[in-house]
Amino acid sequence: MEHSLTIYNTLTRKKELFVPLHAPHVGMYVCGPTVYGDAHLGHARPAITFDILFRYLKHLGYQVRYVRNITDVGHLEHDADEGEDKIAKKARLEQLEPMEVVQYYTIRYHQAMTALNVLPPSIEPHASGHIIEQIELVKEILANGYAYESEGSVYFDVEKYNKAYHYGKLSGRNLDDVLNTSRTLDGQEEKHNPADFALWKRAQPEHIMRWPSPWGEGFPGWHCECTAMGKKYLGAHFDIHGGGMDLIFPHHECEIAQSVASQGDDMVHYWMHNNMITINGQKMGKSYNNFINLDEFFHGTHPLLTQAYSPMTIRFFILQAHYRSTVDFGNEALQAAEKGLARLTDAAAALHRIAPASASTVDVASLRAKCYEAMNDDLNTPIVIAHLFDASRIINNVLAGNDTLSAADLKELKEIFDLFCFDLLGLQTEITSNAGREESFGKVVDMLLEERMRAKANKDWATSDKIRNELTALGFEIKDTKEGTEWKLNK
Ligand SMILES: [Zn+2]
Repeated sequence: MEHSLTIYNTLTRKKELFVPLHAPHVGMYVCGPTVYGDAHLGHARPAITFDILFRYLKHLGYQVRYVRNITDVGHLEHDADEGEDKIAKKARLEQLEPMEVVQYYTIRYHQAMTALNVLPPSIEPHASGHIIEQIELVKEILANGYAYESEGSVYFDVEKYNKAYHYGKLSGRNLDDVLNTSRTLDGQEEKHNPADFALWKRAQPEHIMRWPSPWGEGFPGWHCECTAMGKKYLGAHFDIHGGGMDLIFPHHECEIAQSVASQGDDMVHYWMHNNMITINGQKMGKSYNNFINLDEFFHGTHPLLTQAYSPMTIRFFILQAHYRSTVDFGNEALQAAEKGLARLTDAAAALHRIAPASASTVDVASLRAKCYEAMNDDLNTPIVIAHLFDASRIINNVLAGNDTLSAADLKELKEIFDLFCFDLLGLQTEITSNAGREESFGKVVDMLLEERMRAKANKDWATSDKIRNELTALGFEIKDTKEGTEWKLNK
C-alpha cells in the first residue's frame, strides 16, 4: 500500500504521514449523533468529512472498520454532568418511551445521511446496548485509583490524574483553565473538585433510563461510551478517532483520560476534527433562530432560506471548503454551489457525447496526479474540486470545437471524473425535478439516435435498424430529415 496520505493530528498539531498500526487493517471511530432531534448541518459536516476519509482509505486498499456510534443515553443538557438526559427530556415532553425517540430520530438521521450519499459505517453501536462494557471501564478506572464513588455516582479524579499524566494535552488547556471555566451547578458538592467529570450517575427516582450497577441504579456518563465501544470494536489501540472540533473539550479530552487511567496508555493514534459551521456569519444555535435542519434545507422550508437546496448541493458546498476551515452558509453561497455542481456533472455527462479525435490539443496527463496530491494533503477537497473545474473547462472547449481529445485522453478524463468526482467525493448527478427527469430521458434518446447515426455512417445497417425498430416498438416515432433525426413519443 504505497501512498503518501498525510492527515492533521490534533494531538501533535501537525500533519503526519498516515501509517496504520496493523496494515492492511484500519480502525476508525467517529462520534455520532445524540438522537433527540433532526439532523442539522452540524451533523452533516463530520459525517461527510469522515465519509471522504472512509472512501479514500478503502480506495488506497485498506480494509477499514468504521465505527460511528449512536448516543441514546447519558448525554445531559449543556454537555454537563447535571441536568436532564437529552433523550429522556424529549421523551417526557412528547410522552414517548425514550427508545421511541431514539428509534424515530435514528431512522430520520439515516435517511438524511443516505440523501447526502454518506456511506453507512461498518458498525453503528448504541450506547444503551453497551452498559456492561461501560461499567467495566468505570471499574477499571476505580481499581487504578483515578475515580471515586460519591452518593451512588462515580467521578473521575482529574486532579490526581493530572499529577501522573497530562489532562488537557489534546485541547491545550491546563487544569487551572478548566477550573476557572467550570460552572458550579446543583449536585456538584458530590464532586471533590469542579473539574471532575461523571463516569456513572445515580438515577433520580423519576429517571426512566436506568441500569443496575455496583454503585446502585444509574446510567453511564456521556464520555464513557466512546472509550468502551471504541475498545470493544477496534481494540485497545486503534488508528483514527474523529469528530467535530466542539468535541475536543471536554468529550475527547475526557476520553483520553479514561483510556489512560484504565489501560495505562492512549487508545488513539490520530485525532481528527472538522471545523464548525456558521450561518450568515453567525454561530448556529437555537437562540439565534438560525438552527436549520437538513430536511428544511432539502425542502426550503426555513424562513432564512430563499429556496430548497438539494442534498448534493449541501454535500458539494461542504466539500468546497477544507474540513479544518470554517464554513459559512448563506443563500448566495449555496446558489453558487448549486451552479458549480451542475457545471461539473454536466461536464462529466458531456464526456460521453464527445467523439475522439486522432490527437489531443490539450494536456490532461498531469490531472490525475494533481487530484491525488490534493487528497493526500490532509484531504484537500477544495483543490480536488478546482482541478475538476479545470477539466470541465477542457471538456467545454472540446464541445465548442476549439480543442480535441484523443481516445486515450477521453478515457482518462472519464476515469478521473468517475474516481474523484463520483467515487471519492461521493457526488451524484441529481435528477430531482420533473423537468430534470424529462431532460435526462430526452438525452438518453438523443444518445441512442447519435449511435444510430454513427452506425449508418459506418454502414452498420444491422445496428441502425435495431435502434430504430426497438425505439419504434416502445412507441417512439423517428423521422429522418435533412437536418438530422427528429423524434417524438406517441402515447
Ligand atoms: Zn464520542
